[in-house]
Amino acid sequence: MSVNIIKCGSLKQKPSEIVGFGKCFTDYMYVAEYENGSWNDGAIVPYDAFSLAPCSSVLHYGQAAFEGLKAYRNKNGDVRLFRARDNFKRLNTSLGRLCIPPIDEQKAYNALKALVNLEREWIPVADGTSLYIRPYVFADDKSLGVHAAKRYKFVIILSPSGAYYARGFAPVSLKVERRYVRASKGGTGAYKVVGNYAASILAGDEAVRDGYDQVLWLDAQERKYVEEVGSMNIFFVFGGKVVTPELNGSILPGITRDSCIKILKSEGIHVEERAVSVDEVLAGAKSGELTEIFGTGTAAVISPVDRLGDDGDYIIGERGKSGKIAAMLYERLTGIQTGKLSDTFDWVDVI
Ligand SMILES: *Cc1c(COP(=O)(O)O)cnc(C)c1O
Repeated sequence: MSVNIIKCGSLKQKPSEIVGFGKCFTDYMYVAEYENGSWNDGAIVPYDAFSLAPCSSVLHYGQAAFEGLKAYRNKNGDVRLFRARDNFKRLNTSLGRLCIPPIDEQKAYNALKALVNLEREWIPVADGTSLYIRPYVFADDKSLGVHAAKRYKFVIILSPSGAYYARGFAPVSLKVERRYVRASKGGTGAYKVVGNYAASILAGDEAVRDGYDQVLWLDAQERKYVEEVGSMNIFFVFGGKVVTPELNGSILPGITRDSCIKILKSEGIHVEERAVSVDEVLAGAKSGELTEIFGTGTAAVISPVDRLGDDGDYIIGERGKSGKIAAMLYERLTGIQTGKLSDTFDWVDVI
């Protein structure tokens, strides 16, 4: 099935070099609409502003969810999509939690391929660069009232992104967050829904004010167990053993997290998915048994952590350097994504 394309009158000038993230968008986007009980086929249309009624329901009640994934173009011109089907599956899980009607995952995937194909010249080829893909769904009822909307838009936009590690594979610092919580069981922490991020911004700002890059969230109930970072899952290496918090209902099930677990297992490295208390982490940091911390997520892929702040500062591993396991995972994952390594897990579609 082909996707309808409404052509742009004129195309934008492509930047000669892409720096940063999320500032530059391509000529086209995909938009489908839900109305009168069904999704339409949608179309690829010029990237442009939406017109929203001042009472549009998303602006008041936040019924919206999103995804983030990447396409890579290598020097042969191959365009590679990484685990895109898993993102549409997760999007539907998020939509279900918000009472939004599911999208057709196969149709969405076809639309994405058509859109990325049309925009392939926008995909940067330099090392570390990629095309960031942002699918999202939002409610657009033209009336107030807290209930599931009857009108929605499903949109995919594309943003060429510069190298995340423009100055080398550099570690970040985390602050253990004791005051605010991100998510609680029964809430929306396990879903990529927009309200989660609005609720996390204050803690993030305060962490930056205190001299850290990001927040390490604890569980809402006991404030005892580590959950995740702003937009990354978290891994620890204790005496050579890799440990990550289990998916307990308030943690986002990251696709990068899952990929790392599969790579580690295939390397014969034992991975424990279990509750990890912040006391265990701090004790390990004090004794030196905790040799590595790293975050995992689509944007950075792997983010080594070299400093953890709580009652004081703890240096993890060697200041300014990534640990061995984080570096290995970064090499393996980006190798598979860009085609430098063979795709033994069948994660990549060349389009
Ligand atoms: C998106 C996200 C992640 C990482 O998920 P990936 O699928 O690996 O990109 C982790 N935590 C939160 C809160 C997120 O929003």
